[in-house]
Amino acid sequence: MSAQIISGTEIATQLRTDLAREVAALADEGLVPGLATVLVGEDPASRAYVGMKNRAAAEVGIHSRQIDLPRDIDEEELLGRVEGLAADPAIHGILVQLPLPDPIDEARILAAIPPGKDVDGFHPVNVGRLSQGAHDVLAPCTPRGIVEMLVRSGHDPAGREVVIVGRSNIVGRPMASLLLRRGAGGDATVTVAHSRTPDLGAVTRRADIVIVAVGRPGTLTADMVKPGAVVIDVGVNRVDDPSTEKGYRLTGDVDFEAVRAVAGAITPVPGGVGPMTIATLLSNTVQAARSLREAGRNGTSR
Ligand code: NDP
Repeated sequence: MSAQIISGTEIATQLRTDLAREVAALADEGLVPGLATVLVGEDPASRAYVGMKNRAAAEVGIHSRQIDLPRDIDEEELLGRVEGLAADPAIHGILVQLPLPDPIDEARILAAIPPGKDVDGFHPVNVGRLSQGAHDVLAPCTPRGIVEMLVRSGHDPAGREVVIVGRSNIVGRPMASLLLRRGAGGDATVTVAHSRTPDLGAVTRRADIVIVAVGRPGTLTADMVKPGAVVIDVGVNRVDDPSTEKGYRLTGDVDFEAVRAVAGAITPVPGGVGPMTIATLLSNTVQAARSLREAGRNGTSR
């Protein structure tokens, strides 16, 4: 048996096409969703990510603004810039690219983003509401993109046994909250494993769907997968490869070739979860623009 390959690239393209249509309809109503990205310092990987996000936003018609700030920016000044964006009515989504350089207090900067503009879904209010099961909440992009990918590829998690490997605030924990919600995209039976889980294989072998977000190649091997299971590989790891021009290649956390022979469906790296994360950021920005307009009409704000 060879698994179905779930192409995040293809599903993200569908999602972006749908979004472009939605953004055009909103523009006709006089609402142009706006996304601001804040990049502090010159880290090449962060610069590349922010560039991709802005290009993707522009392609679907979202107004995007990139704010580049020097590495040695004073924390108060950075806070002032974020507060300025928080008050700007043309901006509906604010993304501060992490990690921020030392000694800036990341939590303090993120807390200055109003929950309604928190398109990364990291604000404690959004994290709390998501874990309470709210649906009208901005949820972190990677796990939300994974839910979308599962549903759109015919693997609705409802009623399925899902094992998540990794308990980070960016992937594992919000992934569990999303899958536990009642209703669309949720209703799964969820287990979260981590580095202190004694026999990881015994846990993952129970799963109809395994989601691996660890950051170590070869974490999930073929013997750890139930035949026919769906395998979602979140990991992005650089491994040396002198045969490539750059001297390295990207690989996930899953032993792809061997697991592919056992699984029912599997995501590749690259071309799996990554494109979904960016498409979901755009989707969150559109959701934020709609909600802020609604809150403005009702005279409420969140
Ligand atoms: P973190 O380092 O924050 O978390 C890793 C998690 O894996 C931790 O919970 C850790 O457990 C667990 N872990 C480590 N070793 C083992 C092990 N041997 N067995 C079981 N669990 C283990 O990573 P992130 O969640 O931020 O990212 C994970 C991966 O996903 C990275 O490769 C990252 O690059 C990638 N990623 C990809 C994205 C995309 O869009 N494609 C987006 C975000 C991340 P413990 O808590 O006990 O330490």
